[in-house]
Amino acid sequence: MSTNTKRLVILGAAESGVGAALLGKQQGWDVFVSDGGTIKDSFKKVLLDSGIAFEEGTHTSDKIMNAVCLVKSPGISDKTAVMKQVRAAGIEVCSEIEFGYRYKGDSKIIAITGSNGKSTTTKLTYTILKNADYDVAMVGNIGYSFARQIAEQPCKWYVMEISSFQLDDIHQFRPDVAVLLNITPDHLDRYNYMFENYVASKFRITENQTANDYFIINIDDKVIKEYIATHSIHATTITFTMSDNNIGKEGGYISNDRLHIDFDNDNLDMSIHDLSIKGRHNQYNSMAAGIAARIVGIRKEKLRESFEGFEGLEHRLEFVATVRGVEFINDSKATNVNSVWFALESMKKPVVLILGGQDKGNDYNEIMELVKEKVSAIVCMGVDNSPIHAAFDDVVETIVDTQSAEGAVKAAYRLAQGGDVVLLSPACASFDLFKNYEDRGVQFKQAVKNL
Ligand code: ADP
Repeated sequence: MSTNTKRLVILGAAESGVGAALLGKQQGWDVFVSDGGTIKDSFKKVLLDSGIAFEEGTHTSDKIMNAVCLVKSPGISDKTAVMKQVRAAGIEVCSEIEFGYRYKGDSKIIAITGSNGKSTTTKLTYTILKNADYDVAMVGNIGYSFARQIAEQPCKWYVMEISSFQLDDIHQFRPDVAVLLNITPDHLDRYNYMFENYVASKFRITENQTANDYFIINIDDKVIKEYIATHSIHATTITFTMSDNNIGKEGGYISNDRLHIDFDNDNLDMSIHDLSIKGRHNQYNSMAAGIAARIVGIRKEKLRESFEGFEGLEHRLEFVATVRGVEFINDSKATNVNSVWFALESMKKPVVLILGGQDKGNDYNEIMELVKEKVSAIVCMGVDNSPIHAAFDDVVETIVDTQSAEGAVKAAYRLAQGGDVVLLSPACASFDLFKNYEDRGVQFKQAVKNL
């Protein structure tokens, strides 16, 4: 342990903040945690048990402005008063993954980002490595934070889910393998409603990579394609696509309903129908995870086994129940329009769509065609449903307003006919009516069970 007594201030005491605090303390920093809201009891206990100083409900300037390094939780925007002060003073600000990176030793990182599919691809990649007996942890937005994992149980490999907010304050962070799944508008409120800022933030995942590192990208994504055509990338780039364009190249492609992953002469070729997770988006996620796994030395047989057995994640196109011929699907994690597009695209039956929540500046045009084709009624579930009415009143005959999961499920059930599917795929954040998307999904499932 070093004898560093420099002051490390952490803003926000949730998973990443507490993780950074534990690692900082272990590394000999003088740690102080400041949370402007209420700290969850479980996190408070960790801080107390570890003897880490903290405050909640306020940010005391004197205790913050003497920081040598400040770790900012991804949820805190630069527009907050405290961050404005910190920036103006020129204090070094880093995200928790940057802080963790400094103490990772010779471990290796597979880092995954994108607008949609991060958690699924992270869990899938982790599962493949775990099934191949790698010493691996799944960290980031899913599981422990990177910093906490390093402090408590360091591993040889980390599979990491990264949001754009975590990338906003990196300096040296350099994954051995980086994955960029897709880029569609999301979180624009945090990027001054400028899409190009959000795009640039996503590409920071590769900014410190060298030719010895790999950058795996979805080349069907127009935004990604355009960016790489106009910017130089230092990493070795490997692409995946739904088209035949990758035949003969290292990377991933789908041809005649077969998924191919070609890398280093050990090429996987399997039917897309044997993938345990369904939908086109999951074919993309599988290609991305599979390429990453091949790069780090996993053989194709192991890939196939994991692809066939992977269980998927709760709240992502999760089947709930069939009630009198009406199927209910929980896709509460669909918090933007693009993920709703993929959900609708994969539906084979008429849909009653439950939509709504906290709108992040959605453009519903993207799903207009699919809604016309597949949606018989919309049930709005939100405090302010006006954006949904504005988009769909002329297109969908029946649109009803509800303000709870129970109300939405009852209304949808009433509107659905035998053979229909009721799909909760809200395109919005959940914070107007629920604690988070998990709470929304759980309440939805409970309401279905109560029918
Ligand atoms: P993230 O962690 O990026 O939010 P998830 O794996 O949790 O991604 O999935 C979020 C939502 O997006 C779910 O509704 C899921 O069905 C959908 N989804 C998953 N993968 C993709 C993808 N590659 N493209 C578009 N939507 C996706």
